[in-house]
Amino acid sequence: MKFGGTSVGSAQRMKNMVSLVAHEGNATVVLSAMSGTTNSLIALTQCIKDGETANARKQIDDLQKKYHETAAELLSDKELHDRAITIVDGFFDEIRGYVGRPVTEKEEKEIVAYGERLSTNLVALYMKELGMNAVLLDATEFMRITADNEPDQQYIKENLNAILAQHPEVDVYLTQGFICRNHNGEIDNLQRGGSDYTASLIGAAIGADEIQIWTDIDGMHNNDPRFVEETSPVSELHFEEAAELAYFGAKILHPTCVLPAKYANIPVRLLNTMQPEAAGTVIYNAQPTHTIKAVAAKDNITAIKIKSSHMLLAYGFLRRVFEVFEKHQTPIDMITTSEVGVSVTIDNERNLNEIVKELEEFGDVTVDHDMVIVCVVGDLEWQNRGFEAEVVNSLREIPVRMISYGGSNYNISLLIRKEDKIRALRLLSSHLF
Ligand code: ADP
Ligand code: ASP
Ligand code: MG
Repeated sequence: MKFGGTSVGSAQRMKNMVSLVAHEGNATVVLSAMSGTTNSLIALTQCIKDGETANARKQIDDLQKKYHETAAELLSDKELHDRAITIVDGFFDEIRGYVGRPVTEKEEKEIVAYGERLSTNLVALYMKELGMNAVLLDATEFMRITADNEPDQQYIKENLNAILAQHPEVDVYLTQGFICRNHNGEIDNLQRGGSDYTASLIGAAIGADEIQIWTDIDGMHNNDPRFVEETSPVSELHFEEAAELAYFGAKILHPTCVLPAKYANIPVRLLNTMQPEAAGTVIYNAQPTHTIKAVAAKDNITAIKIKSSHMLLAYGFLRRVFEVFEKHQTPIDMITTSEVGVSVTIDNERNLNEIVKELEEFGDVTVDHDMVIVCVVGDLEWQNRGFEAEVVNSLREIPVRMISYGGSNYNISLLIRKEDKIRALRLLSSHLF
């Protein structure tokens, strides 16, 4: 059971989520930081880096006060409350230790890790107050990423199971989402929103019956509820459909969260802490439904076109193009080809100048910034007639830079301008659903 930031966002929310855990009985529970805390810690590190010492100290005091208030509201037992204050104060004293000097990248990651450490410690004490048979496990003792920043699934499995075996009589194992150690043993993390990823990695490592992602909405909706009114939850998704939606912008799931569950064939259920009786969404090896299920959008996309009259579809050409991206460690999201040109998209401009310079050896290169990938997901197996026509028809008023279809049985991706995104999402909802 993974509970996100809003689900642990106040003392009352923590109490609600603990009652959901108690109701479940046996569970491994993964918690995010309280909502707002990770952002505050990131803002704090920026402040420290900018040398704004007084401002940094004030931000730490404010955040510490919030945790004192949460502890006071959460814990009625005096001894447990005092213990919470000792832990909270200990963490904030450590955070103060970073102020007034340059912080390294490694230390920045240590600072953001306090969010999950704070929330799990408070909830562990509350479970103790209720007399639950729970134990708090330190995620940095078993969550690990490799030198390529990929989870080390073998290490996680061996170490987590060894730790669990030390506590055989326990009903509830509680741990931090998001945080881990890297291959050098330093504190690191699984990127923003990474607690979902922790949950599915743990679910796969222990062979869980089900991975539950508890959040602030009743499942995966058929469009982005932040931009489109009248979206509705999708009851079932295939692993591949959910992976496409998460990767292409459905914020409810971390982009790679579905993969460990898919390989271990463990269903993932998306549930709402504020409406626990709602059915939510279940992600599993669902049967094809012959329907389009949902739409998502991914921002900050850059399109690169390489035009070359003579060598384009000669063999070996695409390999050489891709090698440029590989060399600069930049993944490609979308690709379209023609006899005279290739277009690809990337979501990271860090090495764009070098990439363009090297691609210019093959032909003319043009770059479009501030683009958006709109991804339509469902049963899009090519013999199902008419779906691609419906999608393209819905967007006939919108200029479309690229279309990609047929790469899998599950999606059509379209590249449009940032300024057309919300209109495109709304048009797709009104035409498709
Ligand atoms: P948590 O803090 O629990 O991890 P997130 O904020 O990361 O929660 O994810 C939940 C949010 O994702 C929702 O409140 C909603 O605004 C957003 N979201 C974006 N796209 C979708 C979608 N297709 N379905 C449901 N929620 C979505
Ligand atoms: N607390 C982290 C974040 O805000 C991880 C998470 O909540 O999933 O990104
Ligand atoms: Mg999230």
